[in-house]
Amino acid sequence: MLDNFDIPDLLIQNMKAARHVAVLTGAGISAESGVPTFREAQTGLWARYSPEELATPQAFQRNPQLVWEWYAWRRELVSRAEPNLGHVALAELAGLVPQFTLITQNVDGLHQRAGSPNVICLHGNIQETKCFAREHVLDNWPESEAVPPTCPTCGSLLRPNVVWFGENLPAAALQTAVAAAESCDVFLTIGTSALVQPAASLPLRAVERGATLVEVNPQATPLTRFADFALAGAAGEVLPVLVSRLKG
Ligand code: NAD
Repeated sequence: MLDNFDIPDLLIQNMKAARHVAVLTGAGISAESGVPTFREAQTGLWARYSPEELATPQAFQRNPQLVWEWYAWRRELVSRAEPNLGHVALAELAGLVPQFTLITQNVDGLHQRAGSPNVICLHGNIQETKCFAREHVLDNWPESEAVPPTCPTCGSLLRPNVVWFGENLPAAALQTAVAAAESCDVFLTIGTSALVQPAASLPLRAVERGATLVEVNPQATPLTRFADFALAGAAGEVLPVLVSRLKG
């Protein structure tokens, strides 16, 4: 674990003085729970497909069975995963600052399972299912041999309730995320490669409005040069130290 010297005192002072802290998380925060990031997910059976070949409406129209089975595999993996110390630290952080907004690009539900309230999910939830044509969201559907199964209301194919490349983000979630980025004093970007838009633009909006930008990522990203504090470590190691310093 990083020792306390690795978190600058100035960052702790900024966070203690902040009225509103906003956080954007990406796949990296769930890596320590065993949920692969998109790049790492292309292993084994799925190694020959790129995310763009599996996570687009065009891919689904081309080969719905392939896409359904890839998501069924990821759904199973996510349901076996447990929140890690990074998720738990963020749930605790919510209670340590006057206003806290947690925005995630993840579809795995691990923030919610760690106890974070009011998580803004920009890219949906892999455990939910909707139909392709009319977006009826379903909890269950009649047993059938068909892969994918079909919607009992309109007959169209079922798909995961996630945002695929080229699709619009849920408008209300995006609006809330933008408002938080524009009004926070400190913005933490954690475990995201900052390549997928529009989520990747949120930290820069915060910087433009004068917020302190903090990055937690073992690797440099396009955001690193804008960060006031770049904490180059794993979220599950850095965030518990940050939270314990804030409590001290
Ligand atoms: P990404 O896969 O593009 O990047 C992951 C980032 O996390 C990298 O910069 C990597 O250096 C960093 N990282 C790896 N391990 C880390 C750790 N232990 N602590 C902190 N950082 C770590 O992920 P992205 O930026 O979220 O974009 C990919 C898209 O794929 C998103 O839209 C997301 O919806 C989706 N996705 C979600 C999940 C999930 O729900 N868990 C998993 C894979 C992909």
